[in-house]
Amino acid sequence: MPKALFCMKALKALGQNFLTDKSIAEKIVALGELQPEDSVWEIGPGTGILTDEIIKNNVQLRAFELDRRLYKYLSARYENRIILEQTDILQVDWNSLIRKDGTPLKLIANIPYQITSPLLALLEEYSRFFSRIVLMVQKEVAERLSAKPGNKNYAPLTIRLRLVFDISSKIQVSREKFSPMPKVDSAVILLLPRENKPVIKHPEHFHKLLHAAFVHRRKTLANNLIPVLGKEKTEELAKLSHIDFGKRGEELAEEDFILLSDCLADL
Ligand code: SAM
Repeated sequence: MPKALFCMKALKALGQNFLTDKSIAEKIVALGELQPEDSVWEIGPGTGILTDEIIKNNVQLRAFELDRRLYKYLSARYENRIILEQTDILQVDWNSLIRKDGTPLKLIANIPYQITSPLLALLEEYSRFFSRIVLMVQKEVAERLSAKPGNKNYAPLTIRLRLVFDISSKIQVSREKFSPMPKVDSAVILLLPRENKPVIKHPEHFHKLLHAAFVHRRKTLANNLIPVLGKEKTEELAKLSHIDFGKRGEELAEEDFILLSDCLADL
């Protein structure tokens, strides 16, 4: 912890568990494969442990820090070497900022874990603007995002993100590497834009089916879809798609949901 921040009380509500191991910070930033002049975003620079490594690569860095105390510390420390915004990353206008920074963008962050789901949803929405994303997340989230169908960690968000990104878990980080020490371990994931992204022709059907299939995880696809589509339509959909509706939603791959939505549009 930098001397200037010794007396600062870490705020649990802002997920303030600061990474203390510089060698891990180096490994995280190396995953970004940064080139001079790259446009990079960092969410929650905190004490600057990742920021220091990022700016060594002569990139254009825009960092978002919500905590006013850290914002003041970081502004003094980095002056005009980075663009620093004191703001909530979930509230900023991603559209206009992305346009300002040009494409493609890289994102490197040790994120506050309580914003994981809304942040991943934003990354899904703006996926086409990012060429590389390196995120430290809770270990269980990393497992879920890199899970294959049939795994209990497989969930609708996993499927939606995997349609746009290839996701892999790269570094395991134990809780002892943070101050204050959190109750969970962490892992660093790498998200790369997927080549040949599958086309979803009927997004409204796709999202409806995906949601319905996971409402009751232990139920079969048939039992989850009947309340939404009705018995007759569900049976017709099973026939048309040749998918076994005795399976559970978590046993289906992302392509299966696309096939189901295409078939539903034909009914
Ligand atoms: N990057 C530092 C590190 O690796 O040690 C700090 C990581 S800490 C887990 C999360 C940081 O995100 C904190 O500095 C916190 O103040 C900041 N933060 C929390 N919620 C935020 C939000 N909604 N938008 C931007 N920053 C946020």
